[in-house]
Amino acid sequence: MGAMKIDYLSLKKVTSMHGEEIHTAVSNVIDSGWYLNGEATTTFERQYANYIGSKHCIGCGNGLDALTIIFRSYKELGILKDGDEVIVPANTYIASILSITANNLTPVLVEPNISTLQIDDTKIENAITKNTRAILIVHLYGICAYTEEIGRICKNHNLLLIEDNAQAHGCNYSENIITGSIGNAAAHSFYPGKNLGAFGDAGAITTDDDRLNDTARAIGNYGSSRKYVFPYKGMNSRIDEIQAAILSVKLKYLDQDNARRIAIAKYYNENIINRNIKTVNALNSVYHIYPILCSNRDLIRLRLKDKGIETMVHYPIPPHKQKCYREWNNFSFPITEYIADNELSLPCNQVLTDSEVEYIVSTLNSCQ
Ligand SMILES: *Cc1c(COP(=O)(O)O)cnc(C)c1O
Repeated sequence: MGAMKIDYLSLKKVTSMHGEEIHTAVSNVIDSGWYLNGEATTTFERQYANYIGSKHCIGCGNGLDALTIIFRSYKELGILKDGDEVIVPANTYIASILSITANNLTPVLVEPNISTLQIDDTKIENAITKNTRAILIVHLYGICAYTEEIGRICKNHNLLLIEDNAQAHGCNYSENIITGSIGNAAAHSFYPGKNLGAFGDAGAITTDDDRLNDTARAIGNYGSSRKYVFPYKGMNSRIDEIQAAILSVKLKYLDQDNARRIAIAKYYNENIINRNIKTVNALNSVYHIYPILCSNRDLIRLRLKDKGIETMVHYPIPPHKQKCYREWNNFSFPITEYIADNELSLPCNQVLTDSEVEYIVSTLNSCQ
């Protein structure tokens, strides 16, 4: 095989798959003269709520805001208060944890299971105290993190269940239930590189809870319940009409895009044979990220780079080792730290061709 050049994710190619339709949608908004809180937003919110299987969808400025507004709303509703504890996986992207501390709530980090890389449900009960009020599960890498055991724990301890669905749009939990409709509320990110990506920042909250819907909607709109009436000290975090119109186009293709990611992942699972590499046991995943664990990660990464294959690491430094959370720097989360040292993300997206995927596997298998 000749030299190839494979980007980790070419957004240019992703966009060009439906370029004309997206250009038309954007032009329509531009020509309409209406750029915020309009028809495109209402339409996308209704389509996305239907897609997720939730009663409400509230467009937000980004995924971090969506998470932050959920916690803030529960505080305004008197369901959470300063200092309440929220259980969260230790190996998540930092935004999950920022949304907790931004609301004066206390994150309680729990290790993941090394075979699924998701929060270890056998370690949650040990982390519960008299102050625990919520669990924030994160469907990391696009893998469903919810288990019946998590549902049982929430019920027994009367805990809110919130989902960080930034990486898992369209991921099945069961035949009829997808992530984002399982807990009391879910946050979604439409950052350009996500499975459903906008052309800039955008996000959403989904929930079946009418009171949460009303409160979150107001908080994202300066705290306004109706024009010039402000029950909350809110923020400005809205989805704009151009992003909403683009997302309505891309939502139509999400399931087929995810199916392509799943097919590529299946090929990786069955064909990567290298004694230094472990693939991950993901029962339900939309493969936002295809992670492998390698004992010689940095060497393999370099070898792939030499062969024209771009890879990523999600994530090299876990939240408890970051300077912004220096109070946790001496905590020990060995599984989380192991993942940070060994994880490598292979290209896995709808624009890859079969021959590119085959080239990635044969290159990996020759890195012994
Ligand atoms: C991307 C991401 C976020 C944040 O979303 P933004 O839209 O970038 O603010 C939150 N949590 C996880 C797990 C993410 O991957």
